Amino acid sequence: MLPNLSVVVPVYNEEEVLPLLVERLKPALDAINTSYEVVFVDDGSADQSPALLQRIAREWENARIIRLRANAGHQAAITAGLARSRGEWVATIDADLQDPPEVIGEMLETALREKVDVVYGVRTDRSTDTYFKRTTAEGFYRLMARMGAKGAMNAGDFRLISRATVEAVLALPEHGRVLRLVIPALGFPSAEVGYKREVRAAGDSKYPLSKMLKLTLDAVTGLSHAPLRLATWMAGIGFVVAFGVGIYALVAKATGDPSSGWASTVCIMAALAALQLLCLGILGEYVGRMYLAMQARPSHYVAYDSLEQPLPRGDER
Ligand code: UDP
Ligand code: MG
Repeated sequence: MLPNLSVVVPVYNEEEVLPLLVERLKPALDAINTSYEVVFVDDGSADQSPALLQRIAREWENARIIRLRANAGHQAAITAGLARSRGEWVATIDADLQDPPEVIGEMLETALREKVDVVYGVRTDRSTDTYFKRTTAEGFYRLMARMGAKGAMNAGDFRLISRATVEAVLALPEHGRVLRLVIPALGFPSAEVGYKREVRAAGDSKYPLSKMLKLTLDAVTGLSHAPLRLATWMAGIGFVVAFGVGIYALVAKATGDPSSGWASTVCIMAALAALQLLCLGILGEYVGRMYLAMQARPSHYVAYDSLEQPLPRGDER
């Protein structure tokens, strides 16, 4: 029999947190009183996570493991879980207990009561996040709203979606898909459930600055081509400034000493070079996205699915 609820958990080097997660996730899901499966997506972990997951799957019949062949990133790991989930409803939750598992039941209740397809977990309180995380996250959501994104502020990847929504998401072939932007854009009826973001239960963040920047670039280029327009506007402004400076230079030559002005020349050249590189970078981001779209490679490769293959014996991978 197919489960009613699938819970997708992306896992990347989470050996410290996995035992704590199961301790809280299992009672929370058992309490919901519906058939469920937990889909742990091992995103190419290099620590003891695979071994721990096997032990968990052996002791918890609702647990299922999907292992990706290489680290594909948070969004691709969730996608892998969505693609293989079987539930009528699919929740996604981080492994580190920053999203309280008890809220999943509340999300399901809300979805059924309000007859919506999507329930977003919205962080009403981020006081436990570091100052850096809070300010960068706020900047991210502000930028997204400014660019016309539909999603709620502070709604990350803790959410519940219906089977119809899963199918709609998977039908979008784009690379670098940022789910928290793509799902609201699908236009399914939605509701929100507020929750307090907790501190990471153990281990360190698996989102270094480089991954945060990559997510932001994917989000921006996936959302709209407005930055390309920005490049055009900057070219217009650059033209006006260049014209003014040119006139000034001619007047200076006609009226006096044209040989001074080293500092201003260097400043103008540096500013122009920076502006050109910025425009090239913007262009490059979109060209890169087109390149990935043309290659049309899968966002991840599944090495193993415990639903299809038996669990390996012992604790070896
Ligand atoms: N994660 C993943 N692949 C990655 C990076 C992270 O599957 O390449 C998972 C990670 O194990 C966690 C979730 O994504 O379950 C969110 O990561 P993390 O908690 O480190 O991010 P933060 O809360 O610091 O933004
Ligand atoms: Mg986290």
